[in-house]
Amino acid sequence: MRDSFARKIDYLRISITDRCNLRCRYCMPEVGVPSVGHQAVMSYEELLRVARVAVDLGVRKIRITGGEPLVRKGLISFVSELSRLPQHPEITLTTNGLLLADNAVPLKQAGLSRVNVSLDSLQPERFAEMTRREGLDQVLRGIAAAEAADLGPIKINVVPILGVNADEIADFGRLTFVHPWQVRFIEFMPVSSGLDYTPEQLYPASKIEADLQQLAPLTREERHGIVGPARIYRLQGAQGTVGIIPAVSEHFCGDCNRLRLTADGQLRPCLFSQQEIDLLSILRQGCSDELLAELLGKSVRDKPERHGLRDADYTPGKRRMHGIGG
Ligand code: SAM
Ligand code: SF4
Repeated sequence: MRDSFARKIDYLRISITDRCNLRCRYCMPEVGVPSVGHQAVMSYEELLRVARVAVDLGVRKIRITGGEPLVRKGLISFVSELSRLPQHPEITLTTNGLLLADNAVPLKQAGLSRVNVSLDSLQPERFAEMTRREGLDQVLRGIAAAEAADLGPIKINVVPILGVNADEIADFGRLTFVHPWQVRFIEFMPVSSGLDYTPEQLYPASKIEADLQQLAPLTREERHGIVGPARIYRLQGAQGTVGIIPAVSEHFCGDCNRLRLTADGQLRPCLFSQQEIDLLSILRQGCSDELLAELLGKSVRDKPERHGLRDADYTPGKRRMHGIGG
């Protein structure tokens, strides 16, 4: 599928739940988060139907996300069904890692290719402060289990926040000297209101890069396969790589290759778009695969050229990141 700006769209992110066992301060508040009711959550059968049509249209990579996807029952069977779709799309998962240690082997056996684990601090107290929960050791055990289960190369997602954890960029970068991981730094996105950090706490890509340069010379890496907006580098002498995702400070939209489906069945052309197509209602009215394909095509055509995060009139939307899937 090509959008109106000639971008190839071959990647679908499916959020399977808006619930989470952490409360990261850049993503959701501690309390007052009404969860989508069970009836309003897409069933696995419904998600599979959308995925099947998307694969027919050329989607080659499907990422399962949330909320925290590992809190939803039945995930392993869902992965197994997805991986058996025709054309065998690559199936990946983004997780906070808390429940990964026990699930890594079954996920691999079900056909999962790789995992991205979100981790914002290597310091236990700071981890607890940022996520409002304990659990750093558990996440590290999860990463080790995923690596042992051959779910690599492991990608670690870090959101550096000025005055909170941005001083750990070098520590995270150093991990790539001893592990073949890809440590990816994602700029903080003020996607919704009511978060604990302010847009002024965004730590820009240029500073992330400068901090990494302090460790060793950085060389840009060639990318192959299905590539999105991350810029990938290698620190001289490192086993792994580092990635920088300049979500806000630079326009990364030219490389956008994805559609998003929220847990309550809304198809979103852009992370920051308020324009959604209500696939849940349409599916439950008994729509045909042809109509589903038409709506996926419409969402691709609706993709904006770029997000409006830096525009003077930008206002954060109602959905928080845990409700979109990141
Ligand atoms: N719970 C899983 C996790 O944390 O990996 C999956 C869902 S989470 C919403 C997906 C990604 O979004 C995570 O890597 C998280 O760090 C990122 N994220 C959440 N809120 C963000 C924000 N305001 N700015 C930038 N990234 C954010
Ligand atoms: Fe949960 Fe992921 Fe959001 Fe953290 S970033 S609160 S782990 S959904």
